[in-house]
Amino acid sequence: MEDQDHRVIARRMDLFHQQEEGQGMIFWHPRGFAVYQLIEGEIRRRMRAAGFAEVRTPQLLDRSLWEASGHWQKFSKEMFVFEVGADNDDGARQLALKPMSCPGHVQIFKSRLRSFRDLPLRLAEFGACMRNEPSGALLGLMRTRAFVQDDAHIFCLEEQVEEEVANFCRLLQAVYARFGFDDVAVGLSTRPAERAGEDAVWDRAEDMLAVAATAAGLKFVLQPGEGAFYGPKLEFVLRDRKGRSWQCGTIQVDLVLPERLDAVFAASDGSRRRPVMLHQAVLGSIERFMGVLLEHHAGKLPFWLAPDQVAVASIGPEQANDAEALVAELKAAGLRAVADVRQERLAKKVHDARQLGIPAFLAVGAQEVANGTAALRREEGGPLKIPREELVVHFEKEAAP
Ligand SMILES: [Zn+2]
Repeated sequence: MEDQDHRVIARRMDLFHQQEEGQGMIFWHPRGFAVYQLIEGEIRRRMRAAGFAEVRTPQLLDRSLWEASGHWQKFSKEMFVFEVGADNDDGARQLALKPMSCPGHVQIFKSRLRSFRDLPLRLAEFGACMRNEPSGALLGLMRTRAFVQDDAHIFCLEEQVEEEVANFCRLLQAVYARFGFDDVAVGLSTRPAERAGEDAVWDRAEDMLAVAATAAGLKFVLQPGEGAFYGPKLEFVLRDRKGRSWQCGTIQVDLVLPERLDAVFAASDGSRRRPVMLHQAVLGSIERFMGVLLEHHAGKLPFWLAPDQVAVASIGPEQANDAEALVAELKAAGLRAVADVRQERLAKKVHDARQLGIPAFLAVGAQEVANGTAALRREEGGPLKIPREELVVHFEKEAAP
């Protein structure tokens, strides 16, 4: 089981490392960052299709905003806080690195007077967040101090909540399936002891979420007291191949933050009303999701997600140029291919490609060059001779969304 730990897998695949000077932080290596960007790309594509506009909000914001949002009172121990400007005329101010992007998105909503016609307004951000987790809690990608959240917020009318939650549930199920997870459990977390907002507001928010989840065809278990301090949430828990559970996606109904930060829109009768705010994340922390993904697949990522998809090995030194030419051909077709023209035995090259998690291995020897073929080896089964002109089509099928 030791070799299933994502840190061991990542070292073998050369994905990232950590070191003492950056506790809880990740140094992404080229191969690891390639996967990271593929994950982001997948989310970006699907969010766009679901009607979200991507934004970016500041890393550092003034203490006053965190106080207004309530995060200061609740989270300041976990926030990285800086005092700046003590030596200039403006005087000292306290700024905090964002532990989440919500207050920033409310500022975009508030930057002009929104009409009911603008709703639902859907904003998404790959939010780079920092939280000062205790060093004892840090664990590879699973618990970091710096991470990117696939964060999104929907500002909408109460009567739009049900459809937005249902859309989210569909989006989430499609994304999880694409990453190879089909066992997803759902929990509805209700009001915690320590919370903002009136009980009547909580009654309404919990009710909305339960109705929407049921309408989306979800079976959920109640998790009393597990909600966020500003609202109840649906939590989506992935079960990996080892049977362990990982809470990743969430959607939360929030009637408190729009109130605290005074967000309003112009209703059809001209009056000012508060929007409902939905907080959603499909993956949660991308770092953490990648850790779960690596362990779930034991490093053998699906073809579309592998940092390198195809290794092309020459059998003898005479085929080095042919191997390089084939790599160039595959790359030109948009595939991620690498050549292995070292003077090593073929078995060693196969072994090394597997260690790196490269799903397809092509061998090119004298016979293959003469026949215009390449010998394809996958994890299972013997080599398969494929005509060179069919290779691209063969791999494109595997890479297709
Ligand atoms: Zn949020």
